[in-house]
Amino acid sequence: MKKDFIERIIENTQKGIVPKAEDLKLIFGCDDKALSPLYERARETAFSVYSDNVFVRGLIEITSFCKNDCLYCGLRRSNKEAQRYRIKEEDIFEICKIGYEKGFRTFVLQGGEDGYFGDEILVPLIEKIKSAFKNVAVTLSLGERTKESYKNLFNAGADRYLLRHETADSKHYKKLHPKDMSYENRKRCLYDLKEIGYQTGCGLMVGSPYQTEESLYKDLVFIKEFYPEMVGIGPFIPHKKTPFKDFEKGSVKKTLIMLALVRILVPKALLPATTALKTADGNGLLKGILSGANVIMPNLTPDEYRTKYEIYDGKTTSDKKCIKEYLENIDNELNKIGRRLNMSRGDYKK
Ligand code: SAH
Repeated sequence: MKKDFIERIIENTQKGIVPKAEDLKLIFGCDDKALSPLYERARETAFSVYSDNVFVRGLIEITSFCKNDCLYCGLRRSNKEAQRYRIKEEDIFEICKIGYEKGFRTFVLQGGEDGYFGDEILVPLIEKIKSAFKNVAVTLSLGERTKESYKNLFNAGADRYLLRHETADSKHYKKLHPKDMSYENRKRCLYDLKEIGYQTGCGLMVGSPYQTEESLYKDLVFIKEFYPEMVGIGPFIPHKKTPFKDFEKGSVKKTLIMLALVRILVPKALLPATTALKTADGNGLLKGILSGANVIMPNLTPDEYRTKYEIYDGKTTSDKKCIKEYLENIDNELNKIGRRLNMSRGDYKK
């Protein structure tokens, strides 16, 4: 019975029919055995597009300053205890250089919405990175900006942009964000990015406060319609200096189910096994890959800054040792499940 149910869900999702809220609730209630065909189909789908490759991105957290006040995030401006830093352009370039020598071919510049990083700083930095290093992709994850700014950064050579939509339910969006932010503007940004030509990533936290199966249904419908090139999905993890400090953290199992459904809905999407997933579960990285993810994002941020980029409690820093050793270990683990690390740019397959 359960098995027939999951088979029907898989079949429908493959046809682009998003499971309704009631069905999502039932899926979340299934045990691992009943769910295994879902994960299996998600893996097969990833394999059919990207073969056994798991792509690698070097994450650089360039600033912990943020003008926004998102209720879930430890970097929110009201958190007076947050330690703020910003990495100078020259140093960001040096970090890319070290990463390049270690084989990285995608650099993700992520940060809070920090007015210091205007186009006049970012355009020359992106140009410099793109001209100094061959076959490199630059991904930006710097929040909401004007269309003009997105254009300038794209023309400077940025290839991809990550901007999680956070939730596709505008009422839910309001509960997660201060008054001056809106789902409408978030969507405007995402559609601008796509129109300009970026490989565009949206995404969400699973288990964020006030999230319901209904809002997750809306997330899946939005993802199907927007058809992003990338989707970031991780569990919500509370941060002690935010208004959401007493909320429970998101479920790893639900996160993996959402990953698998998104993989089946958008077969060609690049889906990372996120840092939050790894923080919530020691085996999160492999579990993510086994549920349809095909990207990992090791952190290249220098140690002196890393602990200060605290968007949630206990953010993992386990990949800080020797990056070469770290990658070898992951590759070994991946080999056991028929996957391998691929250090090339790893673009979206058109
Ligand atoms: N300022 C950038 C980058 C934000 S950090 C932007 O707006 O896009 C990247 C992502 O981390 C966010 O989009 C959010 O989904 C996630 N995040 C923030 N706080 C979190 C928390 N407490 N738990 C889990 N994920 C969180």
